Amino acid sequence: MTRTPSEWGFTSLTVHNDHLSGVEAGGIHKPLHTSVQFGYGSSAELVGVFQGSLGGFNYARQGTPTTAALETCITRMEGGRGTVSFASGMAAISAVFTTLLKAGDHLVASRFIFGNTNSLLGTLQGLGIRVSLVDATEVANVEAALTRETRMVFVETIANPGTQIADLEGIGALCAAKKLVFVVDNTVTSPWAFQPAKIGASLVVNSLTKSIGGHGDALGGAVTDTGNFDWSDYPNIFPAYRKGDAGNWGLTQIKKKALRDMGAALSPDAAHRIAIGAETLALRMKAASGNAQALAEFLAGHPAVAAVHYPGLASHPQHERAKRLFRCASWQLSFELADEADCLPFIDRLSLPIIATGLGDTRTLIIPVAHTIFWEMGPERRESMGIADSLIRVSVGIEEREDILADFAAALERR
Ligand SMILES: *Cc1c(COP(=O)(O)O)cnc(C)c1O
Repeated sequence: MTRTPSEWGFTSLTVHNDHLSGVEAGGIHKPLHTSVQFGYGSSAELVGVFQGSLGGFNYARQGTPTTAALETCITRMEGGRGTVSFASGMAAISAVFTTLLKAGDHLVASRFIFGNTNSLLGTLQGLGIRVSLVDATEVANVEAALTRETRMVFVETIANPGTQIADLEGIGALCAAKKLVFVVDNTVTSPWAFQPAKIGASLVVNSLTKSIGGHGDALGGAVTDTGNFDWSDYPNIFPAYRKGDAGNWGLTQIKKKALRDMGAALSPDAAHRIAIGAETLALRMKAASGNAQALAEFLAGHPAVAAVHYPGLASHPQHERAKRLFRCASWQLSFELADEADCLPFIDRLSLPIIATGLGDTRTLIIPVAHTIFWEMGPERRESMGIADSLIRVSVGIEEREDILADFAAALERR
């Protein structure tokens, strides 16, 4: 039996995404629409676009045909109901917090999160939003932190850089029962390996800069509404957006208040590059996570290595959870050397990885964590997040496996 596009697999849908929507002149890609303004034949049409009764674009800060095509693609990948794109992953995360929370509200967030998100939570506290950081690998810790003012729970799938995995199923069920917005940052897993919609997430955030774009040539971020949350119950939706289908209220508010009013719009040029990168997401995830698995196993068996953090290893505390929920354990691993003082010299002995921050690239990237991305937060906070001073993070790329393993072997043996 022939399959219709709605039955196609992940990559079939992704590579045909634009053409399926009827691109001008039969194009296979949505072209780069560089227009800031969009003109209409009559004032009635322009009014219709502004008031939302007609589809269409009015000003590029609120989206272009090029960003809209990418949003459709991300929505399909996530199995969601709609997506709003942003200039970066951080813009997408700050959009969620600042548009859906207000002073007096309480947010429960995982203690194991990306450093810049952690810093952003400090900004929220200055705005009067209370934040509790908990060990979200156990739902009981999240539940214990809830108060009457709690509105939202925020976690990452596989935490950066420690690779802790939140109790995604447990927290999803808890948030559904308590009518809390459950926000999942899916960046490290990517929608190929995991769809948070399936475990009850309300909103999914992706840094498109990482594996979705995948080539280190464009910044972007996205917020996807999974359709799981009933916005008609949510107290912080402004009256102007409490109109029509309640399923659209949350994303409409995020789009109007964050994209339109705060302005961190994704450029059409970046959207185009990200859409091209996204075509090979599944292939790159398979290749990079296969390499990461091999490297993690090699490091775990090496006497010069004191600890390896990778969900694909049976020794990882949430290994079973990773196997149950994710199609792969992804490209991120971190490890500690037995000789802590060798941390920086070891990195300098490697020749294949690029010494740089960044994740989910085609190239292997390596960084000493405490000295760089987690430097600003200081030693106490690092310790509470389980980040050793000698922790090294690797974002494994798609290079030939033997090249990666040979390079790490030589550097460990001080050759
Ligand atoms: C990189 C990253 C972000 C931020 O994304 P940018 O596109 O760099 O702003 C957010 N969350 C996680 C887990 C990340 O790795």
